[in-house]
Amino acid sequence: MVITAFQHPFSLCFESIFSYIVVIEMVEQLSVMRNIPKADLVEALGPNLETERELAPLTSYGTGGPAAYFIVAETADEIVRAVTGAKRLGIPFFLIGGGSNLLVSDSGFDGLIIRVGVKGLKLIGSTEIEAGAGEDLQSLVEFAATNSLTGLEFAAGIWGSVGGAICGNAGAFGGEIGQIVRELTLITGQGDTRTVGPDYCEFDYRHSILKESAEIIISARFGLQPGNADAISKRIEEILTLRKERHPVDQKSAGCVFRNIPDATQPHGKLAAGKLLDEAGVKGLSVGDATVSRKHANIIVNTGNATSKDIRQLADIMKQRVLEKFGLELREEVVQVGEF
Ligand SMILES: Cc1cc2nc3c(=O)[nH]c(=O)nc-3n(C[C@H](O)[C@H](O)[C@H](O)COP(=O)(O)OP(=O)(O)OC[C@H]3O[C@@H](n4cnc5c(N)ncnc54)[C@H](O)[C@@H]3O)c2cc1C
Repeated sequence: MVITAFQHPFSLCFESIFSYIVVIEMVEQLSVMRNIPKADLVEALGPNLETERELAPLTSYGTGGPAAYFIVAETADEIVRAVTGAKRLGIPFFLIGGGSNLLVSDSGFDGLIIRVGVKGLKLIGSTEIEAGAGEDLQSLVEFAATNSLTGLEFAAGIWGSVGGAICGNAGAFGGEIGQIVRELTLITGQGDTRTVGPDYCEFDYRHSILKESAEIIISARFGLQPGNADAISKRIEEILTLRKERHPVDQKSAGCVFRNIPDATQPHGKLAAGKLLDEAGVKGLSVGDATVSRKHANIIVNTGNATSKDIRQLADIMKQRVLEKFGLELREEVVQVGEF
């Protein structure tokens, strides 16, 4: 089972007697999981399996507890082995890339975290680039610039991996990664490999079908245009400068906490959550060491030793302020992992 945003088994399960039974079964399953001998786990999941791995250093917030089991999968075969092994043993799993859009519970994740580490950047023909899903998004931006290819400048300064960016259709400055995806290689929940085109992904604002389909991106092919190397570098510099002015880029955060609200009457068809939050007066509010940035009202920063609980509580206060002032309910962009 893959657990995605707000779908942790325990948070899903309190609505009915049936759900209650599911919870009991899962608790039993987890206790069975805890009793599996390490040698069997390694055999099923892969030789570089770690146990009780702290996740905080792998997230951009720098918060969260340990994963019961953890693996960095550097090849498609390693991913297939980890996924099929976890399924066979009844261990819930969750994928991470760069950890820059995650809020991991302080109690960690009682299952297997698979960090997708498939690397590689390759020029295909004259205008396409193939990238491993675990490649750093900024390496891809630089690779395109070095090869005088335009179309990826918008992504300058977005943290994380290529796979994470595609999964959430990351975007900024008028561009979205979904606009340039030509082909993806995926591993299905059954461990099969398949290739799909961009239509399959149903890219939408900060969304793709991959957020729901439990499929794992292994690599992606992007279509770009020939450009001028100096102009590309200049645009990247401009964007990085704008980011420094508008965002707390030198502090620990996960970017925007809440999604913008679709609204056809607004420029770009969205009402900016940051604007609503600013007008609701949240800048500078704190819970513990979690603080709403004074530069950007939609960004929570960890100024020291914030916990994920602090961040969650602060996000709830921000949400409540907007609800009270505008009657609008904000939806989280950041993905929660584990129990809250
Ligand atoms: C300073 C800063 C600025 C940011 N600015 C922006 C911005 O301008 N625009 C924007 O959109 N975001 C922004 N973000 C948020 C974040 O960087 C993006 O959402 C990023 O694309 C997440 O990638 P990741 O690899 O870190 O994903 P993670 O946080 O590791 O995971 C996010 C989701 O992707 C899934 N996932 C990861 N890898 C794969 C894979 N290979 N296959 C399938 N699913 C996968 C995970 O399961 C999870 O559901 C910012 C974050 C920071 C810290």
